[in-house]
Amino acid sequence: MSIFEYAPAPESRAVVDIKESYGLFVNGEFTPGGGASFKTVNPATEEVLAEVAEADAADVDRAVKAARKAHDKVWGPMPGRERAKYLYRIARIIQERSRELAVLESIDNGKPIKESRDVDVPTVAAHFFYYAGWADKLEHSGYGSTPLGVAGQVIPWNFPLLMLAWKIAPALACGNTVVLKPAETTPLTALLFAEICQQADLPPGVVNILTGAGETGRAIVEHPGVDKVAFTGSTEVGKAIARAVASTDKRVTLELGGKAANIVFDDAPMDQAVEGIVNGIFFNQGHVCCAGSRLLVQESVAEEVLERLKRRMGTLRVGDPLDKNTDVGAINSAAQLARIRELSDIGEAEGAERWSAPCDLPSTGYWFAPTLFTGVSQAHRIAREEIFGPVLSMLTFRTPSEAVEKANNTPYGLSAGIWTEKGSRILEVAGQLRAGVVWANTFNKFDPTSPFGGYKESGYGREGGRHGLAAYLKGGQA
Ligand code: NAD
Repeated sequence: MSIFEYAPAPESRAVVDIKESYGLFVNGEFTPGGGASFKTVNPATEEVLAEVAEADAADVDRAVKAARKAHDKVWGPMPGRERAKYLYRIARIIQERSRELAVLESIDNGKPIKESRDVDVPTVAAHFFYYAGWADKLEHSGYGSTPLGVAGQVIPWNFPLLMLAWKIAPALACGNTVVLKPAETTPLTALLFAEICQQADLPPGVVNILTGAGETGRAIVEHPGVDKVAFTGSTEVGKAIARAVASTDKRVTLELGGKAANIVFDDAPMDQAVEGIVNGIFFNQGHVCCAGSRLLVQESVAEEVLERLKRRMGTLRVGDPLDKNTDVGAINSAAQLARIRELSDIGEAEGAERWSAPCDLPSTGYWFAPTLFTGVSQAHRIAREEIFGPVLSMLTFRTPSEAVEKANNTPYGLSAGIWTEKGSRILEVAGQLRAGVVWANTFNKFDPTSPFGGYKESGYGREGGRHGLAAYLKGGQA
């Protein structure tokens, strides 16, 4: 039981209209798929929300051909300033329909409404606005202004709409057309986005949305008509994709897993640092590739941090994603919950000490209490493998160089956090961290103007900012 009690403040579900079944969005229209179908479930209640088409190889072929035609005849030749108008229109419709998008995202994904409403959806709109601004200025990008053609894009379930925006906005701004597959557990906001494309009068075939699972993703990646593959997801699937495209001339960007270090020095502003630790790992139930899942605390303040952290974790409200008071929502799927449980049990078996915030978890749905492991060593699997859930491992260090060494001791290199009062220390430590993004005295801040991406097994290529254009223009690197 949380020490604070609130009356429930549920957001209305009536603002969304979930259909019983959904087809595929190909060439500007919703069409039935030729393959099977699957169910999408509300992870907070286990209620089946809708039956969704599973695109097969023929559907993928249809979508790629529609995208090719749209690229060659309409979207590629269209002046950038005209393309920009469509992107601005999409951005504005996203803002107008933001409440509907946020509620649907929380229902299908399990994330708290305050996050989908205040973080996901505004950042999605910001992405479209930002790249709309580039569409008629590509000659100043440094990568030329020639699009690649058809982009095949595959995204995960943790930020369904935001990952869609990261993929579609820069691709379209540069004059590419897309075939995008959302994750199998979170297809609904991508299908609502397809409706938004219709509402914006986007020419048919510029955006095609194919729902399905791994096989559909594989068919998109391997289709010979796809010029560019953009993938966000696990390192394991990323490696398979890199192998699949290795013998082709397809361009590829991979945004994969992470195991970020969040480093707290003894001179850190304690209250802010504790908030940053909590935000770093419990935001979006820890289903965040750049989550600060490895907490490195300077030994002299370890006890104090631990005490404050436990106290703060005890105030997190876990429960109904649609309740505006909720801090931590549902785990996205039964399969993900099983993975989190398995790795946490391994952590205990390896000798780390487990502490979970005392909270009442609902009896249906997929839930995991915010959890902290202490007594963690670098060799423990919980310190090495991505858990992708609300589970934090705490380690200690004595000197800045030891902190850097421990932070870099990971196969991943996506992000890191530094908490200290000294600007000089921030610069010194950040320069030595092998991570694509380093936050100082903050964490999990996203902005469309800022490039995001990894080193090592976290992938290659950048999304966001001017750098994000490189992935979709002939003169770019990735
Ligand atoms: P996943 O790799 O299992 O699935 C991601 C997507 O790939 C899904 O749409 C899935 O259907 C599809 N897919 C599965 N097998 C495929 C194949 N053989 N070919 C093509 N597509 C295939 O990952 P997930 O569990 O959905 O997502 C969690 C992972 O995503 C975590 O590892 C997380 O770190 C990572 N992630 C990375 C970033 C980033 O920007 N680096 C952002 C969000 C999530």
